[in-house]
Amino acid sequence: MDAVLSGQARRAFCAVRPPGHHATASAAMGFCLLNNVAVAARHALDAHGLERVAIADFDVHHGNGTQAIFADDTRVRFASSHQWPLYPDSGARSETGCGNVFNAPLPEGTDGAAFLAAWEDELLPFLDAFRPQLVLVSAGFDGHRRDPLAGLQLEAEDYAHLTARLVALADRHCDGRLVSMLEGGYELQALAESCVAHVDALRA
Ligand SMILES: [Zn+2]
Repeated sequence: MDAVLSGQARRAFCAVRPPGHHATASAAMGFCLLNNVAVAARHALDAHGLERVAIADFDVHHGNGTQAIFADDTRVRFASSHQWPLYPDSGARSETGCGNVFNAPLPEGTDGAAFLAAWEDELLPFLDAFRPQLVLVSAGFDGHRRDPLAGLQLEAEDYAHLTARLVALADRHCDGRLVSMLEGGYELQALAESCVAHVDALRA
């Protein structure tokens, strides 16, 4: 975060374990101990003085912890796509925080075209209108069709396409500043392929 916000680097991918987006401010949950992306967002706001931080979460599970931490914080916009119904049973469309949260629940079996359409039509415009000064990404790859924990039908190239759109969002508003953090991904070969596709798109 410091390297990107000081201009030493334009983008970063953090291959962190454990993941973070289910952890709330006070409780570990769903394999997550600390909410890495929320810590990063608060660091950008409080230590670097940013006023508008966007968080894009495409993990197959809803980022309930991130949503809860920022539900009353107008300095952050949180956009999430996730399979529904699925753990942790949050992320309905009706959950909108203080107008700073947008949830796009997807049915089991959703393929790449429908996944990308949700981002193009709803989630990316929601973040675009915010004119973020930094784009953070909760990059979970458990929506891959081979992942054993969920039932979306995504391929590594779908993650590459979405990543390119997120990079374009950052280019439009904040000199390309984007920090991505690894979230879920439980089929190791699919996780590796998806991470490579994601990082290649970040480097483009
Ligand atoms: Zn997940």
